[in-house]
Amino acid sequence: MFPRRKITPKGTDIQMETNGKRIVYADNAATTPVSPKVLDAMLPFFKENFGNPSSLYSIGAAAKKPLEEARDRVAACLGAEPTEIYFTSGGSESDNWAIKGAAHRMAKQGKTHIITSKFEHHAVLHTCTALEKEGFTVTYLDVHENGIVVPEELEAAITDKTALVTVMYANNEIGTIQPIPEIGAICKKHGVLFHTDAVQAVGNVPIDVKNENIDMLSLSGHKFHAPKGVGALYIRKGITLPNLIDGGAQERNRRAGTENVAGIVGLSVALEEAVRTMDEKNAKLRRMQTKLIDAILKIDRSRLNGDREKRLAGNISFCFEGVEGESLLLMLDLHGVSASSGSACTSGSLDPSHVLLAIGLKHEVAHGSLRLSFSDMNEESDVDYIIEVLPPIVERLRAMSPLWDAIIHGRA
Ligand SMILES: *Cc1c(COP(=O)(O)O)cnc(C)c1O
Repeated sequence: MFPRRKITPKGTDIQMETNGKRIVYADNAATTPVSPKVLDAMLPFFKENFGNPSSLYSIGAAAKKPLEEARDRVAACLGAEPTEIYFTSGGSESDNWAIKGAAHRMAKQGKTHIITSKFEHHAVLHTCTALEKEGFTVTYLDVHENGIVVPEELEAAITDKTALVTVMYANNEIGTIQPIPEIGAICKKHGVLFHTDAVQAVGNVPIDVKNENIDMLSLSGHKFHAPKGVGALYIRKGITLPNLIDGGAQERNRRAGTENVAGIVGLSVALEEAVRTMDEKNAKLRRMQTKLIDAILKIDRSRLNGDREKRLAGNISFCFEGVEGESLLLMLDLHGVSASSGSACTSGSLDPSHVLLAIGLKHEVAHGSLRLSFSDMNEESDVDYIIEVLPPIVERLRAMSPLWDAIIHGRA
């Protein structure tokens, strides 16, 4: 049955119920619901303001101005200039454009080496593998047990062939925040371009592209209550990437195609709201995070993945020995909790997550992973509910697990 949604007068916290059963959406790192405020801001662009921003008559102009205001808003949230913001279809597209664009541009100067980390999103990792097939060389930095790149190791990997460093701002599975200002300073010192996939960080962590020496930054609307299919790439003034899509003159001639005006306006309003309410939201999420981590750590043979302090306030990632991640997700779903596990990717493969392997987990431990990710639309009572239902689920799954039996009898 389709979840019945109750929207409070404040319009921010959405509680979902199915047949009176509690529903807790705890997979905000995968995607977030569009907030009522964002939806309201978008609606006129499906209705009376439907014009093409490139048209000269007034209906077109009525869409052009909001588009440019949206660009101003996004730029202001990042400490960038409006002319440095290019709207795209999302995080994956922005990552592809930044990395392939910079690589191809720098190859003309004989620079064919890229530095990244082992636990990037696939939009970055698979882009790097595609470039390796073209003849580029890629260094994949270790992220160690705490899930954080070491700036000195990054600096040591730079050669006179290095074109680009691409390191994510915050990891999507374990939430660890990378030392971006330090990396930016190193790249600047060595004259190397620096891109960051900030899809998980934008709206959750204060970002200033100028102070942090970021040359290119990817973001995606649907991770902060804007719709899916709209994102942006910040490209510092003076950096000319090859055009992403040839055609019309949209996005300063670099990415042709009639703009997704409604989506872009929605993204800008969502981002502004996320930045405006960031401190308050993070204080609440931190409280929830601390409570949940402390409670889950009481479960025998559980471990928190990634640094406890240097992580997004909304992210919790755990492994439970002797438990299959997929079974855990199914059981949680039966209790109305939507969560995610790194153990199976969209392809349905049984390979454990590259992120959990990158922080040194053994295959069998990485299989028992659970990611819970929260947004400002979650309530503290969601955490209380998870604390109530999760430990008995882990216990039941272990009672049925031959692996667990082997672990506690010292045979595994
Ligand atoms: C979600 C995500 C992406 C992909 O963004 P899309 O807009 O879904 O293409 C890229 N990188 C990170 C870190 C993400 O979390």
